[in-house]
Amino acid sequence: MKLTALKSRLQTAAPRVATLAARPGVVVERKRGYGGVLDRRRIRARDCDLCQECKRQGRTTIGYPVDHIIALADGGTDDDDNKETLCVPCHDAKSAREARARARG
Ligand SMILES: [Zn+2]
Repeated sequence: MKLTALKSRLQTAAPRVATLAARPGVVVERKRGYGGVLDRRRIRARDCDLCQECKRQGRTTIGYPVDHIIALADGGTDDDDNKETLCVPCHDAKSAREARARARG
């Protein structure tokens, strides 16, 4: 992926995060700060820095975002076994699916 494409994706992610945080009634107990950085580093190392969704589909793709398999907003935990490394396209696609599912209720 071109770095320019990645940069624009990162820029569009920030407003979406703020929107999620502003949702009333949604309790997100996500680890913040350096502890969270270390957690994500550990998950990426466990997953060999590979996107686990691509791996399930037989592709080898470098991943970066560490994703909650069951989203915190959907009652998922912040434990390691509920986290996996994804690539940006897989992470975006999963986030969009989750948002559509929540919108349906
Ligand atoms: Zn992927």
